[in-house]
Amino acid sequence: MKIILASSNSHKLKEFKVLLNDYEIYSSNDFIAPFEIEENGKSFKENAKIKSLAVFKALKNEVQENYIVLSDDSGICVDALGGAPGIYSARYSLEANDKNNRLKLISELEKLKLNESFAHYVCALSLSTKFGTFSVSAKMYGKIITKEKGENGFGYDSLFIPANYDKTLAELSDEEKNAISHRFKALKLAKILLKTLQKAYQ
Ligand code: IMP
Repeated sequence: MKIILASSNSHKLKEFKVLLNDYEIYSSNDFIAPFEIEENGKSFKENAKIKSLAVFKALKNEVQENYIVLSDDSGICVDALGGAPGIYSARYSLEANDKNNRLKLISELEKLKLNESFAHYVCALSLSTKFGTFSVSAKMYGKIITKEKGENGFGYDSLFIPANYDKTLAELSDEEKNAISHRFKALKLAKILLKTLQKAYQ
């Protein structure tokens, strides 16, 4: 059983390769040309399932036999903004990219005259296999601030301070982030599924 990652986000791929170093990992680009997937689910889990299923269905039958597809849908929910940007985290600003999304988040908090808010990251993972589709999700709690700090990570990391820390995720090393992140916690759960699936593929 080998894993195909259904994501073109290079930052996520880098984190997955470290966190899943005991598995054979491929990118969906190794098997099929990238194609548009409409993420029209109402939750992180629904969108993760849409992505893994779309890629699994696009694979040739012989690939579907031995490979499973793993997708990630993730984002940040800010309490003071009623949970926004949530599932729209990647497309929050008009010309959506990480920098513009952070600027929009800062300006939405400043409109409310706030310089911080409780927030949490969510990571939903979906595994599509010849036996069916399975999903898990996990959260990392902390707070959002309105002054960027640090250079590491991606997305909203330079604005997010994990609970019980006094540094943003972008000020932590890759190893430190990977030990506490929503992605790490979700993968810990996914590994339980992967172990069981591995037996089914033997
Ligand atoms: P997706 O690719 O549709 O799942 O969008 C995920 C978006 O959520 C990314 O573009 C980031 O803005 C944000 N995000 C998810 N996970 C992280 C993380 O670990 N650090 C920073 N931002 C993240």
